[in-house]
Amino acid sequence: MLMKVVVVGCTHAGTAAVRELLTRHPETEVDVFERREDISFLSCGIALYLEGTVGRLEDMFYATPASLEALGAKVHVHLKHDVLSIDAADHRVVAEDLATGQQQHYQYDKLIMTTGSYPVIPPISGVSIPRVLMCKSYDDARKIKESAKDADKIAIVGGGYIGVELAEAYSRNHKQVILINGVSPLLSHYVDLPLSKEIASVLTKRGVELKTNTIARHFDSDAKHVFIQTDQGEIQADLAVVCVGFRPMTELLVGQVEMNPDGAIHVNDYMQTSNPDIYAAGDAVAVHFNPTGKDAYAPLATNAVRQGKMAGANIFGQNIKYMGTQATSALKLYDHSLAVTGLTLAHAKRNHLPAASVTMTDDFRPPFMPHTVKITMVLVYDTRDRRILGAQFYSEYDIANAANLISVMIQNRNTIDQLAYVDMLFNPNYDKPWHYLNLLGQLAVMQADNAKV
Ligand SMILES: Cc1cc2nc3c(=O)[nH]c(=O)nc-3n(C[C@H](O)[C@H](O)[C@H](O)COP(=O)(O)OP(=O)(O)OC[C@H]3O[C@@H](n4cnc5c(N)ncnc54)[C@H](O)[C@@H]3O)c2cc1C
Repeated sequence: MLMKVVVVGCTHAGTAAVRELLTRHPETEVDVFERREDISFLSCGIALYLEGTVGRLEDMFYATPASLEALGAKVHVHLKHDVLSIDAADHRVVAEDLATGQQQHYQYDKLIMTTGSYPVIPPISGVSIPRVLMCKSYDDARKIKESAKDADKIAIVGGGYIGVELAEAYSRNHKQVILINGVSPLLSHYVDLPLSKEIASVLTKRGVELKTNTIARHFDSDAKHVFIQTDQGEIQADLAVVCVGFRPMTELLVGQVEMNPDGAIHVNDYMQTSNPDIYAAGDAVAVHFNPTGKDAYAPLATNAVRQGKMAGANIFGQNIKYMGTQATSALKLYDHSLAVTGLTLAHAKRNHLPAASVTMTDDFRPPFMPHTVKITMVLVYDTRDRRILGAQFYSEYDIANAANLISVMIQNRNTIDQLAYVDMLFNPNYDKPWHYLNLLGQLAVMQADNAKV
């Protein structure tokens, strides 16, 4: 059957959906609407661009409208087109051409909603002044780079991974950096307190001035400065970048599909919304968070590309099932890497899970090797069934795949006992006869066994 598909929004989830649906069914008539002038921008590279590791922002696109249109005969990527409304009952959208102001109706058989997220603007007045910038899109990145040229003192508002990445980028560029974080500890979504404190001290040693327990309330500016009124007094800087999180951009479907209280669209395991002809993916939707077994909001490119690809396949009746997520993520911090997956202990307790954690620091390979480094590891588990719930790794060594492996184990509902003995290779270049993850599992087993007696 020939189908008409409309895709609303074309960054990671939208691009993945379009590629998948056209690879499987190139005959499909597809209208893709994107209000920006570009598609597929990798915001994940913004900090690398700001610090100078990546020279050209333009290299952070991995698809063009022409590359998507080449995948089929009836594909139209409408850039600078804003979808103003979706009428789910009539299977119709209205889009405005932002260049001409002209509005037009488009019919669809199936719609894929990949409108993503907004940067959260905290309840502070004055955030739309020129020296206060957000950090999400290609335009944001260009503005931040440009504005930072004549800024010596830069305030970053928000101590999540984007705030920390930006603080690092600017401190590397010898700017005076103030990192303003509210009441939660730095990176509190990702790590428990001891690691959070360690990372805070690394930033401080690199010259970043940390203002924790400080809530920004109001911004003001003159020609050269921004004045940030906080509950702890005024902070003056030359530029402020606000990055305090994201929220789903889903207004177009309010009242037409089921949503969670935070506005994230609820989808089934096949990316289908409560309206069978509307699929959704990426930052616009809630994810199934395996460690808790509940819906959660985890705006990550990893989720967006997977879900987008599934939506693109499943609108044709494929049944590719979403496995859920552990929200696995990583961050490079100067010469260290931080990689995390699943729940922190604090997060587990907030979810009323009876959880415990162990922390271990060990060399990743034998001391007889010319060089070895330590890894700090945290493993969180459920004390009832000893199921692994989460892990945190911090080291100069590349520990990204340690987090990936624990992610798979969480997904498979493996226990600390299985981690203690799971088969791992041994070669002195890479590890010791007992791999550090086995040792971490064994420590947890010992703690859990001791707690029983
Ligand atoms: C600085 C930064 C660093 C990040 N680093 C990482 C990382 O290291 N790893 C990771 O996994 N994730 C990272 N992320 C998160 C990741 O970028 C997002 O999860 C991802 O962009 C979500 O993709 P999406 O396609 O769902 O939504 P979005 O990227 O939000 O894209 C949605 C698109 O829809 C368009 N749109 C919305 N409404 C309409 C409408 N009505 N009409 C037309 N078009 C519309 C928007 O213009 C936009 O282009 C980072 C994000 C930022 C900002």
